[in-house]
Amino acid sequence: MNLYEQRLDEIFTRIEAVRAKVNEHQIIKLVAVSKSVEPSEVEALYNVGQRAFGENRVQELGRKCGILESLPLEWHFIGRLQKNKINALIELSPALIHSCDSLELALAINQRAKAKSANLDVLLQINSAKEESKAGVMPEAAYETYQQIKEECPNLNLKGVMSIGAHVNDSKIIQESFEETYRIFENLKPHGATVCSMGMSQDFELAIECGSNMLRLGGILFS
Ligand SMILES: *Cc1c(COP(=O)(O)O)cnc(C)c1O
Repeated sequence: MNLYEQRLDEIFTRIEAVRAKVNEHQIIKLVAVSKSVEPSEVEALYNVGQRAFGENRVQELGRKCGILESLPLEWHFIGRLQKNKINALIELSPALIHSCDSLELALAINQRAKAKSANLDVLLQINSAKEESKAGVMPEAAYETYQQIKEECPNLNLKGVMSIGAHVNDSKIIQESFEETYRIFENLKPHGATVCSMGMSQDFELAIECGSNMLRLGGILFS
């Protein structure tokens, strides 16, 4: 086993341990966040079976997509999206945009997608910990915003929700922020939501306990 195989193996063992406790039938998808590593490390992880990777900057996503274009990778966009980068992102055909954080941004992405006859899979980002430093719609507004995007943005396929756990040391508070996101996800399931993206290197086990089915792990895989 090489280093990457060993790391993936350890993480899947940890994921499985929690999943078995929570819900044996739940499939959990791992997105490897490669924002702080070079394409050679992406390739190394790909070589031991990882397919989905996440980047938080459009330019960097473009650079890595280009260098690794011969590999059948699935790229996720997870960062703040500036309006002037929307066209460039659409050109890269991301598998999923996790960070659609307002109706306004959704409308802007939709308009440009329409002009390119593109359809994009997106998640609505929720600021479930209500932190000023974070993007996302407030939990109270999430349900309505989701419906509005569905109605007003025919070129977007809303697949569910994304959230970043509270930025604190108290795991009780992190748990509450995940539970808040999960409650919203459950209310949106009848409206087609299937993805609940939450959980990073420091809190992914807690996120699985709270119902996450998509993890975004960076540091724990790559450092
Ligand atoms: C960087 C990043 C991650 C991964 O964080 P780690 O702590 O390195 O696992 C996940 N989600 C988003 C939105 C990020 O920006």
